[in-house]
Amino acid sequence: MQRQDQRHKNGRGDNAVDDTHELKTRTALVDASRHLHDTGLVTGTSGNLSVRIGDHVLVTPSGVSYQTLEPADIARVTLDGDILDPGASSPSSETPLHLGIYRTTDAQAIVHTHAPWATALGLVRDELPSVHYAILQLGGPIRVAPYATFGSQELADNVRRAMLDRKAALMRNHGAVTSGATLAEAVRNAESVEWLARLYLQAAQLAEPATLTTEQLEDVWRRATASGYQP
Ligand code: 13P
Ligand code: ZN
Repeated sequence: MQRQDQRHKNGRGDNAVDDTHELKTRTALVDASRHLHDTGLVTGTSGNLSVRIGDHVLVTPSGVSYQTLEPADIARVTLDGDILDPGASSPSSETPLHLGIYRTTDAQAIVHTHAPWATALGLVRDELPSVHYAILQLGGPIRVAPYATFGSQELADNVRRAMLDRKAALMRNHGAVTSGATLAEAVRNAESVEWLARLYLQAAQLAEPATLTTEQLEDVWRRATASGYQP
């Protein structure tokens, strides 16, 4: 009975998950947010993170400083965007972007940053090419989604298209988005995008960077698969 009341209160219905799991996920989102802040991939209140739980999504609140963020501040929405728990304020303004990716892929976590090298690259190129085999983990060359106003459905659609068969996209005049099978992977992918963008831009100051051929990448993939090595 008590359990049912709790379900009703949280509006979870059949999507109810173990409260311990939910608290762990909320805490993981706070920890990941702080990590991205400490490593400079987000500043102030920029960027947002989410984790999918069944047909619901836990997402960071809009405009809340990462330095003060607490597990109870995290918002909870349905895949259709209905707000079940507004968290500290309201769900991130980029919730439509997160939901668009969840609805069309098997992503379990999404990270959006304003990371400086990734954002810089999106200002001057249409794609981050295969300058290092680490890009294989992201699905290949990373597309730059056309600019649209933050929080808009147009931006969400542009990013969803740019992420087709990829775990990352850059956003022109804005930032980057990554996904993962876990929150840890989505964060790792965000760091990887930033590293690759920096590598590319630093090399591009000297000459046009060399890129790997499809054959070279396939060879890496074969070797990695055979040995269990993660590029
Ligand atoms: P929120 O604080 O609403 O998540 O917005 C930050 C952001 O990066 C908008 O693109
Ligand atoms: Zn943003």
